[in-house]
Amino acid sequence: MKSLKQELDQRRAQHLFRERLILESPAGAEIRLGNETLLSFCSNDYLGLANDPRIVTAFQAGAERYGVGAGASHLVSGHSRAHHALEEELADFVGAERALLFSTGYMANLGVVGALVDRHDVVFEDRLNHASLIDAARLTRAKVMRYPHADVAHLAELLARAERPGLITTDAVFSMDGDIAPLAGLRRLAMKYEARLLADDAHGIGVLGQTGRGTLEHLGLPLASPLILMGTLGKAFGVFGAFVAGEAALIETLIQRARTYIYTTALPPAVAEAVRASLRIVRDESWRRERLRALVMQFRAGAETLGLTLATSPTPIQPVILGAAATALAASRHLRARGILVPAIRPPTVPEGSARLRITFSAAHEPAHVERLLQALAELPRP
Ligand code: PMP
Repeated sequence: MKSLKQELDQRRAQHLFRERLILESPAGAEIRLGNETLLSFCSNDYLGLANDPRIVTAFQAGAERYGVGAGASHLVSGHSRAHHALEEELADFVGAERALLFSTGYMANLGVVGALVDRHDVVFEDRLNHASLIDAARLTRAKVMRYPHADVAHLAELLARAERPGLITTDAVFSMDGDIAPLAGLRRLAMKYEARLLADDAHGIGVLGQTGRGTLEHLGLPLASPLILMGTLGKAFGVFGAFVAGEAALIETLIQRARTYIYTTALPPAVAEAVRASLRIVRDESWRRERLRALVMQFRAGAETLGLTLATSPTPIQPVILGAAATALAASRHLRARGILVPAIRPPTVPEGSARLRITFSAAHEPAHVERLLQALAELPRP
């Protein structure tokens, strides 16, 4: 057996070693690492709400009222008025019969998939799905079939041959590419083959659609069976947590069966209070979405002029594909030396040969920040 140290050394040699940064400041367009202030293009704080004073105040008031911990799981005595009110407000926001809070998006995906399929079912997954969806299917005893990225025709062939299609799962906005899943086509197939469709809108909720209802609003799709929505609260909402929304019977089934809902401590109620404040802002301040769209357009126009390889992404996730892990790492270091923080995303997070800079934008950015990023990209050493 290889020693752990040997394995770690090998990772380093392959440019795959990962290290954490230690932040001294809140999330924002500019962050502080030690004594260094950096312009950040790597958070998921898409609407610039992670340090919003109104949400901070709601969090504080929530802690005053409920204390710091929920004290128990939801099904024992941890389900507070704050959680319950937030669930109702989220259901209303996305236009679903009911919604259910989970502690994280990762746990929500594990919970939904585990509750809805058994070993006789087949789960179909887009090949570029987020790790939490992949793990969710792996943890069940269902058969798993992965289809090529966004390939509805290929999925149709797999479904036609499957004995018991149970569930199709997909990122609604793909986390490393920023493109949008073909949800209308997937929904049609789910209906035809009587499967359910789980759309993970971690990166779309709050960001896409006129009122921020996410990818479904963007595509004009109703949130009704066979669709199940998972949304996270730690990205555009700027706080923490996640929810699943859909028909009442689905939510009741999750309460009875989702293991990552039942066997874990409820979110602190103060977090729920913070999200309630955030939800009001997400709904009401559509200027944040408009500003974000304008920044993304500014970036794409500039990057195209520079001849960079962009993905077909209309979202704030804008990868610049560079190929080799070492190239992506060198590019990230080049930007860092110019005071700009953009992570290099390497295999196994993305397929071999598609290492990239993953640039994300936030309504907290200014057009001048984007200009600075473009200038630094213009000076990237060319192969
Ligand atoms: N799904 C997708 C597509 C994600 O990108 C993420 C977070 N990176 C998650 C789920 C997990 O959400 P959370 O961070 O709330 O666990």
